[in-house]
Order: sequence, then structure tokens, then C-alpha cells
Amino acid sequence: MTGKGDEDFFTSEDALSKLKSVDQSVLDTGTPSRVEMVVVPISKGETRIYLEAKRPIFDETGRIWGLSGVSTDITEQKRIEEELRQAKTQAEVATKAKSEFLAAMSHEIRTPMNVVLGMSELLLETNLNAMQRRFAQLMHDSGKALLGVINDVLDFSRIEAGRFTLSEAPYSPRQVVVETTHLMHIAAEEKGLVMEDEVSSLIPEVVLGDNGRVRQVLINLMGNAIKFTHEGRVDVRLTIGPNEPETLLFSVADTGIGIDQSQLENIFENFKQANGGITRRYGGSGLGLSISRRLIEMMGGRIWVESQLGVGSTFFFTLPVRIAESSAYTLAPDTESVTTNSRSLRILLAEDVEENQILFEAFLMQTPHQVIIVNDGIEAVAMVQKERFDAVFMDVQMPHLDGYAATRKIRDWERAVGNEPVTVVALSAHAMEQEIQRSRSAGCDRYLTKPISKKLLLEVLNQIANQLAPCPSQVQTS
Ligand code: ADP
Repeated sequence: MTGKGDEDFFTSEDALSKLKSVDQSVLDTGTPSRVEMVVVPISKGETRIYLEAKRPIFDETGRIWGLSGVSTDITEQKRIEEELRQAKTQAEVATKAKSEFLAAMSHEIRTPMNVVLGMSELLLETNLNAMQRRFAQLMHDSGKALLGVINDVLDFSRIEAGRFTLSEAPYSPRQVVVETTHLMHIAAEEKGLVMEDEVSSLIPEVVLGDNGRVRQVLINLMGNAIKFTHEGRVDVRLTIGPNEPETLLFSVADTGIGIDQSQLENIFENFKQANGGITRRYGGSGLGLSISRRLIEMMGGRIWVESQLGVGSTFFFTLPVRIAESSAYTLAPDTESVTTNSRSLRILLAEDVEENQILFEAFLMQTPHQVIIVNDGIEAVAMVQKERFDAVFMDVQMPHLDGYAATRKIRDWERAVGNEPVTVVALSAHAMEQEIQRSRSAGCDRYLTKPISKKLLLEVLNQIANQLAPCPSQVQTS
């Protein structure tokens, strides 16, 4: 090889001039170089990719007197790399498509589920004999369980598809713990379990974060604790991390069946349950903990479990404390202290699906409220311009003119004629932060995710009635 250069092995003009300048720079600087080049080796007569490694050769005095080059044919290696890259991209596209399909499908299922749940809720309010009541209750409970699974799948697929954002708003961690415990209390009591919460006095009153997602994780952990405990108690605690003063430490402890040591990490994986037969006995999708872990990690925290078979389990999670300027915000009022207002409201419902119209009307059957129904956004705008309403419930997905566009038109019109803005409540099947932002920027005052229960609807109406100037004779305190 001595005395030979690249031109003795390759014919490609372009590569040869580049290699010459590489050689020169190695000789000038004394620094070795490795470059990939597309060349045509004389011996092969076809285009190949070579790795060209050049290094300087020094004499005894340390002066550069020459240069050595090693050329390796890496064409095959590059082809494999490219194939792998393509396969990875394809796999990512396929995962995304799968997640989007799941999201779309669970969304489609939620809408009719809304009707099934609502109708069974109403059925339970009628006069039924014991057997009918049991059947209707089972139907309602199964519907709720199904909705839970669908919501899990929806969350999971959104996280997988990278379409998941967290909101950032001031909230009270104490209120979150107290309210979620209150909510889950009934389920615990039904199983004869004692459920208590304890919040350390060191916890800041207001922090920044996504309180809905914190609630979701807590509800999931409490739900599991209740599900896997047959007797004893469930304790929910919130303290400051013992060695980390900047951290909220939540824990949910139960005296339930416990988890085998070998499964402690597994259960946080997708679709994993501590033993295969568990689904049949306890129900569930095996997604709850993996979603919880993803959520907590997205919020900058950690989640883990300590458990002993037959004794019980304690799930812990941390969240970094981010202090909110408490004076700048008012927290949502405690629902218990809201005044019940029996004022009759005139409500406009804009909703294109007939079943949902029937359900909405049925929810308000025994109330003093009056409902007018229209089928799309155009009719909604026309109706608001014609008559006075106390609230407009606006489905966001409607033919002709969707709920957001209709709300914008209503707001423009109100400004133009100088009318007081009517309360607009957006109704959507998407429980996504972007949707909430969209509804806000369209001018909606509130946002409800379907399926809405009768209880929630009445609560919202009550709050709307409270915000309106009260009619003294009609106000009563609960
Ligand atoms: P799911 O409860 O829907 O099956 P999760 O992801 O919430 O799914 O939980 C995964 C598994 O972890 C459960 O199936 C169960 O085996 C185990 N597990 C979770 N919480 C507890 C608990 N408190 N006690 C015992 N086992 C639990």
C-alpha cells in the first residue's frame, strides 16, 4: 500500500477531491479523521459506502511524515441501519394509529353510554319492585364500570399518541384529598371498610398543578384499595416528604390482600395484574396503575408501592410543590356550603342527538326549570336572539354550525346589541385540556364532559341560579 492514495482504489471524482482535503487537514493538524464516503471502488465497479479512517504517522522526533488510511466497506451495515430506522418509524406510525383508533372508538362508545347511564339512573328513581330495582341497579353499576374501562383506554391511548397535556392552575391539595375521600367513602362503607383521611398542617393551602389529574390518581388508588380489601381500613394521607420539604407525599394504605413481592414492579406496566385470574374476580382493565404512573411522572413525581401478601398494601406518590400566589386566585367554593336555589331557570339546550335531548329533558322533569331544545348551532343563535335564557347548554359537535362557532356568534351579537352575556355551558365528549381551552376562547363559561349525571347537571344549574340576582322569596338554605 505504501505510496498509494485513494485515487488508486476509487474512481469517483467527487469523493476523491473531498478525501484529498481530509488528508491535507490530517497532515496539517495531526488529528485523525473518520468520514463516511460514497465511492466507486475500482475492484467492485459499483457505488458503495466506505468508512475512511485516516491517521497521521509520526517519526521519532514527533514530526508528521506521513498518513495511513484504512477504508472499510460499510454498505451492508448502512442498509441494515436504514431498514431498522424505517421499521422504527413504521412501528411508531402504527402505534399512533392504534392509539388514535382507540381514542376515537372509546369516544364513540361514551356517547351512547351517556344515554344508558342516564336512563338507568332515571329508571331507578321510579317505583320498582325489589327485583326490578336490583336489575336496574346492576345495569347502572355495570354501565359505570364499563365507562371506567373506556375512560382508562381513552387516557391511555391519548398518552401513547402523545396527545395529552396537563393543565396548570392553583388548587388546594387538602381539598383534593378531603373531597376524593368523601367521594369514595360510600364505596368503602358498602364493603364495611373504615376510610379516613389525614392531611398534615404543613401542607401549603394552594399549589400549582393539574388538580383533576391528581384526583384521578387518588381515586384510582382508593378504588383499588377498596376493591382489594375485604375487611379493615383504607387510610389516605397527605404529608410533606420526610427528607424532601419541597415535595407533597400522598399515600393510600389498605389492609387488603396484598401483592406478591415479585409483582411489585409489574403492576405498573400496561394491562398487568398481579395474577392472571384477578380480572374475573375483581374486574378492571389493568391500566389504572400504568396511567397513574405516567400521569405522576408527567407531573414530575414518583409512584411506588410497599406491600405484604395477606397484610395489605400502601401506595405512595410524590409531587413537587409549586407554590401559587394564593391571593391572586379564589378556589372553587366548597360544594357543601352552596345554597340550594329553587329559582326556575329558562334553559336552552342545543343538541343534535335525540337520545341526549330526551335524557336532558328527563333529568329536569321534576325540577322547576324550563327547557327549550334546538338541533344545531344556527337554531341556537336564532333562539338566543329571539328569547331570553338564563343558561345555554351547548353541545360542541353539531351539524351546520358547531357549538363553539355558535357561542362566538352569540357573544358577537350580545356585544353588538349591548345585552348581558348569557351563561353558556359547553357539553363535550372530550375530556381534554385543549378542548377546555377552546371552549373558553369561544366564550363558554363552563365546560362539562359527557356523560353528565343528573346530580352534576342539577348542581351546575344550582350554581347558575345562585349567580343570578336572587329572588328573595325563592332562596332557601340547605
Ligand atoms: P386493575 O385494578 O384495573 O386491574 P391497576 O393497574 O389499577 O388495574 O392494578 C393492577 C393490578 O395491581 C391489579 O390487578 C392488582 O393485581 C394489583 N393491585 C393494585 N392495587 C392493589 C391493592 N391495593 N391491593 C392489592 N393488589 C393491588
